[in-house]
Amino acid sequence: MRISTQLIVVTIGITILSMTIFGILAIRIMLDSAHKEQTDHLRSIANEITNYNLASSSQEEIIDHINNYKNEFSREKLILIILRENKIIYILTQNSINNQLIDRIIQTRETGIENIIDIDDIQYVFSNRIIQNSGYELIFIKPLISLNHPHANTLIKRMATFGIIIIWLAIWAALVFGSIISRKLEEKNKQLRHQTLHDNLTKLPNRILLMDRLQQAQYNSHRQLSPFALIVMDLDNFKEINDTMGHHNGDKLLIEVSSRLLKSLRENDSLARLGGDEFAILLPDTDYNGAIVCTNRILHDIEEPLLLNETSIDIKASIGITLYPEHGDSIELILQHADVAMYQAKQLVGSSYSFYDPVQDSHSIRRLKLMANLRPAIENNLLSVNYQPMIDQNTNSIIGIEALARWNDKELGFIPPDEFIPLAEQTGSIQILTLWIIEKVAKDIKKWRSTGLNIKTAINISTNCLQDSLFPEKVEKIISNYGIPVSNIELEITESALMSDLKRARRILERLNEIGFIISIDDFGTGFSSLAYLKQLPVNILKIDRSFVQDMKHNKKDSDIVSTIIQLAHSLDCKVVAEGIEDSETYDLLKTLNNDIAQGYWISRPLTASDFEAWLKSSSWSNDTTTKAITNN
Ligand code: C2E
Ligand code: CA
Ligand code: CA
Repeated sequence: MRISTQLIVVTIGITILSMTIFGILAIRIMLDSAHKEQTDHLRSIANEITNYNLASSSQEEIIDHINNYKNEFSREKLILIILRENKIIYILTQNSINNQLIDRIIQTRETGIENIIDIDDIQYVFSNRIIQNSGYELIFIKPLISLNHPHANTLIKRMATFGIIIIWLAIWAALVFGSIISRKLEEKNKQLRHQTLHDNLTKLPNRILLMDRLQQAQYNSHRQLSPFALIVMDLDNFKEINDTMGHHNGDKLLIEVSSRLLKSLRENDSLARLGGDEFAILLPDTDYNGAIVCTNRILHDIEEPLLLNETSIDIKASIGITLYPEHGDSIELILQHADVAMYQAKQLVGSSYSFYDPVQDSHSIRRLKLMANLRPAIENNLLSVNYQPMIDQNTNSIIGIEALARWNDKELGFIPPDEFIPLAEQTGSIQILTLWIIEKVAKDIKKWRSTGLNIKTAINISTNCLQDSLFPEKVEKIISNYGIPVSNIELEITESALMSDLKRARRILERLNEIGFIISIDDFGTGFSSLAYLKQLPVNILKIDRSFVQDMKHNKKDSDIVSTIIQLAHSLDCKVVAEGIEDSETYDLLKTLNNDIAQGYWISRPLTASDFEAWLKSSSWSNDTTTKAITNN
C-alpha cells in the first residue's frame, strides 16, 4: 500500500515537471522563431537602404534617403546610427537611446553579420553596413519583440520560477495527500488485520491469533523449561438459552461471559473465542496446580447468576485442560486434547472440569476418524439407504416406506446413523448428506415407478437443513428431476428440532407444504410442542416416538400417552404413525387405539432396496398392486 502511494506522488511530480518543461520549451521555440523573423526583417531593411547607391552622397542626401523609411523605422522601433570615419554623426531613434547600448554595439559590430546583444534584460539585434568609398557606416538596430511582451526573458524566468514553485507545491501536496492516504490505508489494514485475528462479537482474539500465541508460549516454555496450560471452555446450556431467549440475548450472554473471563484472568493470560460458545484460555508458565486454581476461579466467576431480559440465568460451563508438554508435543495436539478433555468433563458428574486423559481418549480418536471419513464417504457415494415398510392398520397392507441412511466405513465398520447424523450436523455436512440421500431415494423410486410400483416414501430431514431458506426448492428440484410427484414424498422432521427455532422452521415447513410435500413430525412426544404451536404448523402426520411404543403393552402410562397422542393427532386432522413395533401384541393394541400406520422390526427391519423388492414379493403385508408391480418386473 505504501509503495502505491509513493508511486502516486512520484507520478504527479513527474507529470507536473514535464508539463512545465514542455511549456518552457514551447515558449522558447516560439520566441526563437519570432526572433528569426525580426532578424530577417532587419536584414532586409538594411539591404534595401544600403543597396541604393550612396557612395557619392552627402550626409544630407543620405539622411534624406533614410527619411523615406521613417514610417517603417517608427513602426518597427528601429534605431539607426550613422558613423563617419568611426564617429557617430547621426542617430535616428524614436525614443532616447541608452549609451551603453551604443558603446557595446560599436565595439562588437561585424560588417554584414547580425548580432544579438542583451542590455537591461532587453535583446537587440543589430547589423552594420559600410558604404564603400564614402567613409559612411550604417548600423541598424532593432529591439527584439518578444511574444506580445517586450520582457519575454523576464517572463520565461518568472515562468520557470513559478513552475518550480508549482512543482514544489505539487510535490508537497502529493506528499501530504499521499501520507494521508497512506495513513488511512494503514488504518484500514490495521482494522482488517484486527478483523482477521479477532472475533466480531466479543472482540476477543480468534483461533488464528490463539494459535500464534500458543506458538509463542511453546517457544517460551522451551527456553524457560516451564510448562504452560491451555483451557478450553464450553457453556453447557447455551443452546437452550439461545433457542428460548433468541440470538440477540445469546449474543449478550456471550459478551458477558467473555468480560467475566477477562476479569478472572491474570495479565499474561490470553483469552480467545474459538466459535459458538467455546472459549480458550492460555495460561503461560502454569503447571497442574496453577491450572486448577485458575479453573476454579473461572468457574466461580462464570457460574454467578446472570440477569438477561430480567430473567436470572444460571450459566454452567465445562472445562478441558491440557498441559504442555505433558499432554501433547505440538500446539495442535494441545488444543485438540483440550477439546477432548472438555468433552470428557461434560460426561463427568459432579465436576465441571477435566484434565486430558489419554486412556479415555480412544473414543475421541474414533470420533475424529469418523469426522475425517464422513465427508469423503458422502462425496464418493459410500453411503447407502435402507427402506423400512410402513403398514396401514386399516387394511393391514403396506402404505409406504421410510428411507434410513446407512454407512459402512472401510476402517471403522458399520456406523449407526444415530452416530454419524449428529456428526454431519456438527461438521456442516448434513445438507449435502441429506441432498445425497434424497437423490439416492429418488433414483430408487424412479426405478420402482417404472415397474408400476408407486410407493410413498418418507425421508428424514435434519433441523439444520431448515436453516437454509432455499432448502425447499432444492428438494423439489431433485424430486421433480426424477419425474416423481412431490405428494409421494413425506418429509420427517423431529419434534425437538422444530421447537428450537419455531419461527424459521414454520416458514420453511409452510413452503414445503405449499410445494406439496407431506410433512410429518418425527419422534413425537419427546419434544415440548404445545397444541397451540402444533395447530399453527402445516403438519400431516405425527409419528409417535418408539420409546412410548416399545413398552406400551406392559406400561400403562406409555399406552395412555400413545392413546392421547392418537386422539390429539386426529383432532388436528393428522394421521398417526407408531414406530418401534416389535411384536404382534403391540400391533394389535395400537389398532384398538385407532392408530393409522404401523412401523417396526416385527413388520420388517430396514432393508436394502433389493431386499425390499424381495420382501414385497413374499410378504403378507404387500397388497396386490405392490406385489404385481414388483413381480411384473
Ligand atoms: P428415526 O427417524 O426415528 O428412525 C427410526 C429408527 O428406528 C431407525 O433407526 C430404525 O431402524 C429404528 N427402528 C425401526 N423399527 C424399530 C423397532 O421395532 N425397534 C427398534 N428398536 N428400532 C426400530 P436407524 O435407522 O438406526 O436411525 C436412527 C435415527 O437416525 C433415525 O431415527 C433418524 O433420526 C436418524 N436417521 C436415519 N437416517 C437418516 C437420514 O437419512 N437423515 C437424517 N437426518 N436422519 C436420519
Ligand atoms: Ca424418522
Ligand atoms: Ca422416529
